[in-house]
Formats: sequence, C-alpha cells, structure tokens
Amino acid sequence: MPFIQKIEQQITADPNLDHEYQWFLGIEKFNKLAPRLILGEDSPALLGGRAFGSQTLSGNGALRMATEFLVRHLNYKTVYMSNPTWDNHRLVFRYGGFTDLKYYRYWDPATRGVDFTGMLEDLKKAPKNSVIVLHMCAHNPTGCDLTREQWTMVADVLEERNLFPFIDAAYQGFASGDLDKDAWPVRYLVDRGFELFIAQSFSKSMALYSERVGCLTVVLGEGHAQDAINMSSQLVLIARAMYICPPKHGALVVSTILSDPALREECDLCIMYLLRNYRKKCLKIMNDRIQDMRKALNESLVKLGTPGNWDHVLTQLGMFSFLGLTPRQVEYIKKKHHIHMLSNSRANMCGLNDKNVDRVAEAIYDTVV
Ligand code: PMP
Repeated sequence: MPFIQKIEQQITADPNLDHEYQWFLGIEKFNKLAPRLILGEDSPALLGGRAFGSQTLSGNGALRMATEFLVRHLNYKTVYMSNPTWDNHRLVFRYGGFTDLKYYRYWDPATRGVDFTGMLEDLKKAPKNSVIVLHMCAHNPTGCDLTREQWTMVADVLEERNLFPFIDAAYQGFASGDLDKDAWPVRYLVDRGFELFIAQSFSKSMALYSERVGCLTVVLGEGHAQDAINMSSQLVLIARAMYICPPKHGALVVSTILSDPALREECDLCIMYLLRNYRKKCLKIMNDRIQDMRKALNESLVKLGTPGNWDHVLTQLGMFSFLGLTPRQVEYIKKKHHIHMLSNSRANMCGLNDKNVDRVAEAIYDTVV
C-alpha cells in the first residue's frame, strides 16, 4: 500500500531510530491503539481499564500466546473450532497445550452457507468452560459470516454454558470494507459483559504480512480491571519463554497510522489525519475489487450455463470462496486447467482479474459438466 511506503520512509529517516530490545509486550503506543481499532474509540471496557492490548507476532502469535495462557493459567482443556476453519488453528491449539480439540458445524454443503442450526446444536452440547473460537468476520475458509441476529443467539448459548469466546480477527475491513461495521460482533459481546480474548492481525488490513504485526487484546469483566496487571505479567513470561520481545518495525508503522492526532502533538497532525482516511480508502478499493471479481465470476458461470447454483460466489464474504467442488473435481481442475485451490475447493478471489476470470469460469464449467 502506497501510504505504508511513505510512513516507512518517514520512520527510517528518523536519526533516533534504534535497534534496542523492546519491552516484552511490545510498543506501548501500539498496545493502546490496536485495541481501540477493534473495540471502538470510546469503548467503556478500554476507558475503564479492563481491556488491554499486547503486541504479538501477528494474529498467529496472538492465538499462540492466548492459548498458552488459557491452558497454563486457566486450566482450559477443550477448544472448539468451526468446521472447517483456517488450517493453522489446529496446530496452534494443539502445540499451545489444548488436549481436547473439537469442532462445531459451520459449513453446509447443501446451501453453501452457514449450517447455523448445526452450529447452535454443537455449541449447546459443548462441555461447560470450553473455549470457542469465533471468526469475527470474513470467515476463513468459507467466506460465510453470521448475521447479527445469529451472533445474538450464539451469545445466548455462550452465556448459558459458560463458554469462553476467543475471537480471531484476521480480516477486519474485508467483509464490509468498513472497519467499524466488521468489528460489530466483538463490540456486541463486550457490551453484553463477556470476558474474551481477541487475536488481531494487521497482515491483511495493512498488507504487512512479513512484518508480523498483531495484538492480543484481553477484555476482562466489569470490576476486574485490577487483574489486568497480573495477567500482563504472566503474558510477559510467555513472551520471554518464546521470543523475548516482538519486532518493532511493523508495529511502528501501524501505530503511526493509527495515532490519534490529538495524542501526537509532535507529529504533523494534518498528514496523519489524511493518511488515516486514505487507509480506509485503500481498504475499500481492495474490498471493492474482490466484490467485482465475485460478480464477474458468477456472471460468467451463469452465462456458460454451468450446472448448479452459483449464488454463493456472490454472497460469501472476504478473500475466499468455498466453490463447492468435490476433491475429485479440484484434482481435475488443477491437473487439466492449472487452476489451483485447496482440496476442499477454497479459492482465493484475489487471484482473479479481468484477464483470467472467464478462463476460470470455463474451467469450472468443464469440471462440473
Ligand atoms: N486467523 C485466520 C483466520 C487467518 O486466515 C490468518 C492468516 N491467514 C491468521 C489468523 C493469521 O495471520 P497472521 O499471523 O499473518 O496475522
């Protein structure tokens, strides 16, 4: 993203830039700003000191830190993930110490959407005090999100069964193009009084994949602000045992962008403010392009008379589409047409462009007829 380059030039031109160790939980400013992006500028949990952020090695690092804390200090043993989910979840939770890895139903191949009845049934059967991993938005790999009404029903079950919500927020902005709208599920759960963890990633939203910029945000219950100090001292030990401290560069970039002009007297307030707005615009441009490609692929498939219903290509959200091809069909399209996707037919919509979309549609047609 062009604005990232501008900020990087500004950061590296600073003669005071050093390569000292950072604090174990990263840059203080970043730890203040990243949770605000997700919980909202005026989040009562943040203002009341019962929510705090710790810089991590991106979203995956936040998942790993939180996992270790949940197992080591809170004695959680069981974690539920959506079926399907992002491949790495299983590895992180297993290596992080969960001994009981379970799945709740999520994808319904018949409707090519969320199997919400199945999901609720499975959550209702989850043993009390299980951890439930929920994708905040732009679910990976299905691209299917819960509606707001469905979130409220999930929250009822979490409350009834004393389940712990662990929110994976890797794609804020990628479902609706609007950072606040996409954060609604988390803000709703916090408003309802849940204690929760959020694993936040800046890999996608700021295209900083290799810089490993993320944040573990902890939200404690009303009246538990004093636990934040004890918790962060335990997180310090976990970070020290794994890597000492997180890297600096990406977090400096992100906190520069997220800086509230009012808090940054020494900065050029005007430019910062413009960049913040520009950032929102970039995200919108990326998101709109994905939507255009979904539309083009759907139209091309329909025009060719491809058997089956292809509405899901349009309605799924985020970077991915679960095309609904069988593993054999995926094997065929890879071998014959050199079009690659996961064997469960999760395809990355960002790989489509005006030049290749019709060819992809023709290959899908050839595969399913
Ligand atoms: N969660 C989900 C659902 C993801 O898809 C990803 C990346 N693909 C991540 C977390 C972690 O990404 P990162 O570690 O780069 O922030």
